[in-house]
Amino acid sequence: MTTQPQICVATHHSSIEALLSDAEFLSLANRDGFLVELRLDFFDDLTEASLDRALNTFAPNALVTFRHPLEGGKRPNATDAERLAFLQRAADRGVAYIDIEARTPRDGFDKRSAKLILSYHDFEKAPKHEEEYLKILNPMRHQPDVDVVKIAVMPATINDTIPALYGYGYCNNDADPDPFSTLILCMGEAGLWTRVLAGFFGAPFTFARGEGAPGTAPGQPTWRELRDIYRFHQITSKWQIYGVIGNPIGHSLSPLMHNAAFEELQLSCVYLPFKVEGDPQRFMHEFVVLLDGVSVTIPHKESILKCCVIKQALPAGMLTVEQVDEATRTIGAANTLKRNLGKVSEFPSWSGSNTDAPAAADCLESGLGTLQDKHVLIIGAGGAARAVAVGVKERGARVSVLNRTRERAETLARETGATAVSFDDLPTLKLDAIVNTTPLGMVPNVDTSPLEENQIPNGGLVFDTVYNPLRTKLLEMAERRGCKTIEGIEMFIGQGVRQFELWTGQKAPRETMHRVVLEALKKRQAKK
Ligand code: NAP
Repeated sequence: MTTQPQICVATHHSSIEALLSDAEFLSLANRDGFLVELRLDFFDDLTEASLDRALNTFAPNALVTFRHPLEGGKRPNATDAERLAFLQRAADRGVAYIDIEARTPRDGFDKRSAKLILSYHDFEKAPKHEEEYLKILNPMRHQPDVDVVKIAVMPATINDTIPALYGYGYCNNDADPDPFSTLILCMGEAGLWTRVLAGFFGAPFTFARGEGAPGTAPGQPTWRELRDIYRFHQITSKWQIYGVIGNPIGHSLSPLMHNAAFEELQLSCVYLPFKVEGDPQRFMHEFVVLLDGVSVTIPHKESILKCCVIKQALPAGMLTVEQVDEATRTIGAANTLKRNLGKVSEFPSWSGSNTDAPAAADCLESGLGTLQDKHVLIIGAGGAARAVAVGVKERGARVSVLNRTRERAETLARETGATAVSFDDLPTLKLDAIVNTTPLGMVPNVDTSPLEENQIPNGGLVFDTVYNPLRTKLLEMAERRGCKTIEGIEMFIGQGVRQFELWTGQKAPRETMHRVVLEALKKRQAKK
């Protein structure tokens, strides 16, 4: 096993000519920490001479393969002998790796100084049990000359990646006497963790795509994302793993924010997005062996509370311990989970808390000085409204709730000690602050707002929890009415800062977190 895992960038070019005129790939030739995958079956102009030209440039860090037609190869008529002859030529030229499917006979093949990868691909499904992985991997691991075994499979959901967690644990652990490295890749968005954490699991490399390139398998991140966001080259089995669960999750800014914070403090921690569909219980139960902390976003903030319960059979009966604080219980939703090891139970378990609530209260406090006896109007009665209501009430504010569906406003008011109000009440309310917790104003509906301009009292404070766009229509109108305004990004950063501090016990680098999130939001807005 190499000590530093490498990033193997997959070429997508249909000809060697195109590859040799691609500045990005030329810049990766001979670069430390990188391999370039040459997919010989992709190249229309493949001949011995053109292969030699490619190898003149890439040989020392090339991973060369000529994929079998039954495992995604693009040349249905290529015979095993033809494919093997090209791979032998590459081995003779001193490439770093040769990748051959386990099903391809290798009679007479001499890997020379190259390392040999035996591989298996299934673009339709993933093993349902750890034993199925071992059934595929073990015969490959015990063949002569093999240095790395690789399996790439297609999970339908994140729960289909659970056996990979245990398969990896079995193959690459320190007690394993086999000198082989194993790489398990789950394709698609659900399998991103298997790619980013290759080094954590002791695999020698992972695959990535070029910037703006389609990649050779679904779900490949770009090499820059791996290097710059996830610090892929540094990750070892000693690192702590964090993540955010939600659905959808691809747009989440939390990985950028937390990874930048970990890097700033030089912590050996990495943070990943996990697309969790349906009930999160099974995922949380199984991934507790991997994850030290989890952020929770839509749609799991409420259902995640079920994962923060410990049940223990005691002689006196069943002991149930709900591991959430009082405010989180009142809100009925958590956005932050932390793993406990052996504190309440001998098994790892989760404690839940809600950092949205104090983050929202911090935002309002920054504009009002203190919240004691201040009158705050919350528009909306969903999860965010609950968090804001509990957060500001804890600091002494009076809360009114206005919502499209009156009954929900009444329920929220009853449960948090607030008052439900209607639009007709607005002129009579003496408000210090208004908080929008509806999605009105959020992209793509940027021309919408929960209030008309003349409904905004002059000179108060208006805080919009929506942060995409940064300046919502509501905030623009509030500014014209002479109000102080607070953008939703402040709450987003605030909740992240509190998560970071809860997990690491260290002061979060707020400015760095703010900067990377702001840059990303501005980039997104510029693209529209
Ligand atoms: P939620 O539970 O679905 O609640 C949405 C609320 O908005 C409900 O009260 C709903 O009214 C109301 N609403 C939805 N569409 C509306 C419309 N067209 N007109 C009037 N009212 C409408 O969602 P949530 O979890 O509370 O999140 C709401 C928003 O908060 C998100 O979109 C997000 O931008 C923001 N947020 C921001 C942060 C942050 O860190 N800045 C954190 C969390 C949430 P009904 O009850 O009538 O359906």
